[in-house]
Amino acid sequence: MTSPHTYITTTIPYVNARPHIGFALELVQADVLARFARQRGELVRFQAGTDDNSLKNVLAAQAAGVGVREFVDCHAEAFVGLGQALSLTVDDVIRTSRDRRHRPGVERFWRACASAGDLYRNRYEGLYCTGCEQFYTPAELLDGRCPEHGTEPQQVAEENWFFRLSRYARPLREAITRGDLRIEPAGRRHEVLALIDGGLEDFSVSRPAERAGGWGIPVPGDSSQVIYVWWDALCNYVTALGYGTGGDAYATWWLSGAGHASHRIQLLGKGVLKFHAVYWPAMLLSSGQPLPTDLFVHDYLTAGGRKISKSSGSGADPAALAAEYGTDAVRWWLLREVPRVGDADFTVERLIARADDELANGIGNLVNRVVAMIRRYRDGRIGEPRLVPADGKDLEAACRQAGERIGAGLAEFDFRQATAAVWAIADEANRYVNRVRPWELASAERDGDAGAGPRLDAVLGALFGACSALGRELAPFLPDAAARITSRCTPAGNGRLPEAAPVFRRLSSSAGVVSGSGADGGGRAGFSGPR
Ligand SMILES: [Zn+2]
Repeated sequence: MTSPHTYITTTIPYVNARPHIGFALELVQADVLARFARQRGELVRFQAGTDDNSLKNVLAAQAAGVGVREFVDCHAEAFVGLGQALSLTVDDVIRTSRDRRHRPGVERFWRACASAGDLYRNRYEGLYCTGCEQFYTPAELLDGRCPEHGTEPQQVAEENWFFRLSRYARPLREAITRGDLRIEPAGRRHEVLALIDGGLEDFSVSRPAERAGGWGIPVPGDSSQVIYVWWDALCNYVTALGYGTGGDAYATWWLSGAGHASHRIQLLGKGVLKFHAVYWPAMLLSSGQPLPTDLFVHDYLTAGGRKISKSSGSGADPAALAAEYGTDAVRWWLLREVPRVGDADFTVERLIARADDELANGIGNLVNRVVAMIRRYRDGRIGEPRLVPADGKDLEAACRQAGERIGAGLAEFDFRQATAAVWAIADEANRYVNRVRPWELASAERDGDAGAGPRLDAVLGALFGACSALGRELAPFLPDAAARITSRCTPAGNGRLPEAAPVFRRLSSSAGVVSGSGADGGGRAGFSGPR
């Protein structure tokens, strides 16, 4: 029997500016899913990339007065650098403009849809938002402006290639209602079904090469047109696997069946729902490929109450935040505070408060205290596992049930529920310490109370079990901190626990101090190559 295969993708962002905290959310969520699946013995491929072939990149490069290639390369570096800053276990990164896997795959995809009779040429006139890279109908605009960007779209008239989306309304609807294509949260699923029921119109999938400034992939057999950037970008999810260029990865990670992908999980933001839940599956159906199994749609982050966008420059820079406050604090805020449904507002104050309250004071303080007590009262030695003390049942249950509760949360893409299960261990354990007061037991033991010694052993054993569980269960969420906790809880060669040392530094008292915490964790050095 082969292990389940899970393919996890994040959207590939435009590289027209540096990455913001909103994109970090998606990367961290995907990383947690990937790490958790690996921890359970699944084979995982975590795929990321950058969308280089966008007209937005051309415009941004022109505005900056540099060449498009130079501009795109520079910003793509910043995205790739997030891998290290956020301790991401990305397995592969595809860059759509320079990766040799991409263009042949896009062309093969195009030809497959053409063979199915789904591509045709037509004259088109409409309102185009360059920010979104899409046409809008007047009804979709808000007061004549793009609902995403608040800018007035341009009137564009041109001859384009069209994709016969209208043909796929029924099979798409069936795939979604049968659950073959699961869309979470449910509100987004209903939104997609409403879109389909409202009628799917064929959409244009090419642009005149001239208007695109020659940037992009030419339409096979029609060099006067370049392939629409969204078509191009969506293909990355399979071109990264060698669709169109060969190799085993495509069969392993995208095709269903024994020894092949059990899950194809795609993460995306609500703003690109239609592209991923309507256009993309229709393209896959047309070209005869399986659909993703799961689409998880996250909402947006605001920063200090304002909408974040790369182009407006208002987004908190996740790499800078990680450098200043630590990777753990950034990941914890994203996972603990951002709800499954609804937008969340990011502020540095909230990040610090959450990290100090739960990481430094909650988890870190617990591990520190427990290790210090074991060293003081038991010379750093952990005895054989003992019976759970009668008053430690709740703590034991929190530890025992954490794995299952985390699994249940992540199956629903509910990161707050999952991290709550980890937090419950620390919360329960801190309460337990305060209730049983091990220092009083130690003092009673010293005073000759015969019952106090065995009871202290049992209490310390239960608390040590909780710390070990934290090191284990925290690993998918805060890999660096989990590694530190595990090392604090691992006896050295002499059989004794190492001296207690803080797992987290307190952020509120160290404002302005830039120090590299978390250097001894399990993060990888940037995005690594294909494996
Ligand atoms: Zn727009």
